[in-house]
Amino acid sequence: MAKKDKQQEFVTQITPRSEDFSKWYTDVILRTDMVDYAPVRGCMVIKPYGYAVWELIQKAFDAEFKRTGHQNVYMPMLIPESLLLKEAEHVEGFAPEVAWVTQGGTEKLDERLAIRPTSETIFCTMYAKWVQSWRDLPMKYNQWCSVMRWEKTTRPFLRTSEFLWQEGHTIHATPEEAQEETLTMLNVYRDLVENVLAVPVICGQKSEKEKFAGARATYSIEAMMHDGKALQAGTSHNFGTNFAEAYGIQFLSKDGKLEYAQETSWGVSTRLIGAIIMTHGDDRGLKLPPRVAPIQVVILPIAQHKEGVLDRARALKAELEKAGLRVELDDRDTYSAGWKFNEWEMKGVPVRLELGPRDIENGVATYMRRDTLEKGTLALDGIAGEITALLDQIHDNMLNQARTFMEEHTTVATNMEELEAGVQTGFVKAAWCEGRECEDEIKEKFNASTRNMPFDQSGMPSDKCVCCGKPAKKLIYFAKAY
Ligand SMILES: [Zn+2]
Repeated sequence: MAKKDKQQEFVTQITPRSEDFSKWYTDVILRTDMVDYAPVRGCMVIKPYGYAVWELIQKAFDAEFKRTGHQNVYMPMLIPESLLLKEAEHVEGFAPEVAWVTQGGTEKLDERLAIRPTSETIFCTMYAKWVQSWRDLPMKYNQWCSVMRWEKTTRPFLRTSEFLWQEGHTIHATPEEAQEETLTMLNVYRDLVENVLAVPVICGQKSEKEKFAGARATYSIEAMMHDGKALQAGTSHNFGTNFAEAYGIQFLSKDGKLEYAQETSWGVSTRLIGAIIMTHGDDRGLKLPPRVAPIQVVILPIAQHKEGVLDRARALKAELEKAGLRVELDDRDTYSAGWKFNEWEMKGVPVRLELGPRDIENGVATYMRRDTLEKGTLALDGIAGEITALLDQIHDNMLNQARTFMEEHTTVATNMEELEAGVQTGFVKAAWCEGRECEDEIKEKFNASTRNMPFDQSGMPSDKCVCCGKPAKKLIYFAKAY
């Protein structure tokens, strides 16, 4: 088959993003071998290419959690029903999504066991046992695990019944310390999502309606996907003494008084992979941010049967790997060069290097960057340093492009018509009275929800609520959301 036909064949395997975003997403994740559907309803199988992205995310986040004073632990996945029932708001929030174990072997259990939808209840139970005095505080633990929520509609990485995540749970002596922790971890998330995943976010506080079940305050980072919808990419909660009172987490203070501990929790999940795909991907497929790309550079030897080409390509791979880069040498001779170009573009590898007899003669390699599709040449001498710098440039460019997109798709609304128009294509900033009825009405009419109230409350577009016209109290973002 001619090269042109092969390319054509590749392109037709992915539905254009502008034609059907949802179909595009499904085509991309399946065709790039990141994920597959599982025999269990609503669950996903993360394949090596997808899991490698998760491992790199984990590595970056875990290092930052440790740097900020947290330690990893592991809690059991089963939670006795009696424990789950202790905090009323929490159980009400999660009850519709809990999966239960009712039988062990042939024996029916005396008490049902929940498969954790989240682990506040078990962390609280253990903290109550472990904490006696103010000297034991703070306790700052995190766990990497899977959780299960019986979701009605699911989509790989975005919403699945079982997903991978981390959940940090900390307890502190004072409200100030707990609030500081809550905001510190939100900021850690913002920093990593922007500077590792190249996904820009807005940070702020969730409304009462949208906060975590059982929290006093929830803060979130919200990213904009390429269809203009919001994706909640991470949350950080301040529980105050809510859970501590329900679970009896008490300690003797410095002045010998028995006090309840102040608690926080925070989490990010495999949703972040969905965020990467839907922020950066294009009609050719994935566009992976260099810092979490399992393969950062793919080397394609050209006319590899000619003497010296493969040897030089192997030496180049070794040199780049020595500089700490993740490199693949595609020396398969069963595919044409054109086929390979298309495949690696689809898989989103940030830099492609071509190395043929003429390049070697001239002491150069030809590169193509996936973010802009620009081509150029690099001298083989000192190439590792050049590629490292190029990957940083690609990261910066991807972050800037995504930020520009977010800014261009954020509008301000002072009435319901403007709000309705704005949420069709992106985020809408509006003044809000803090009334639940207005949130409900907007959800009902436009299928848009409040995302968060930005920390910077300046620039309120009106002194009246966008929905009811009563005095406005907060600047808030509205959007359709995943
Ligand atoms: Zn209102």
